[in-house]
Amino acid sequence: MNSGKTILVVEDEASISNFICSALEVNGYGVVKAASAGEARSLFLNRRPDAVLLDLGLPDEDGMGLIGQMQEWAEDVPVIVVSAREREAEKVKALDEGAEDYITKPFGISELLARVRRALRRAERQSREPAAAEVIQVKDLVIDLERHTVTVGERPVHFTQNEFKLLALLGKYRGKVLTYDFIIKEIWGAYAANGNQTLRVNMANIRKKLQEDPVMPRYVLTELGVGYRMLED
Ligand code: CA
Repeated sequence: MNSGKTILVVEDEASISNFICSALEVNGYGVVKAASAGEARSLFLNRRPDAVLLDLGLPDEDGMGLIGQMQEWAEDVPVIVVSAREREAEKVKALDEGAEDYITKPFGISELLARVRRALRRAERQSREPAAAEVIQVKDLVIDLERHTVTVGERPVHFTQNEFKLLALLGKYRGKVLTYDFIIKEIWGAYAANGNQTLRVNMANIRKKLQEDPVMPRYVLTELGVGYRMLED
């Protein structure tokens, strides 16, 4: 089995690096290994991977600086940050720098593979989909951007202007975690007062209208302390 996809694994701890690389190889991915930021940079440019798994604690410099750089070189290559538990601020910063997703240590092989698959799928969809798709569909939820309508199954659901904008934004980036700050800036502008509170209220209204159970969400997942992610099919 060979997916034809190559993953750049940037990790200085040999045991973790070996664990990740062999899991990827067994599952059909090509792997390129880097143990420092310098090495990661040159391998990224020379080998042009399809995705990057990036540890932030590297011996020569903070991996955070690599995210923006890699996005500048090739914005279609998703970067998944490998982060320690309880480091919400770090995850938020990485996402705001342009990371696609994060995975929290310690993690299992199936979670690792699921995140890699999802990131690759999103990258592929983005390259395929016209920039201005008019209809977003997630399971039985259909968001029509042109006509400003939302239906769940056959049931039409009415949203306020901002609720609709928020739902459409999550839908446009479905599969990706959007940070609170990113969402607030997109919907209410950079100088929104009480942005977090407003966002929470709007989100609660959306869930109610979608008849969404926040504990077992069908559409929108809360990533505690980080942001929201619309689920895919
Ligand atoms: Ca490290």
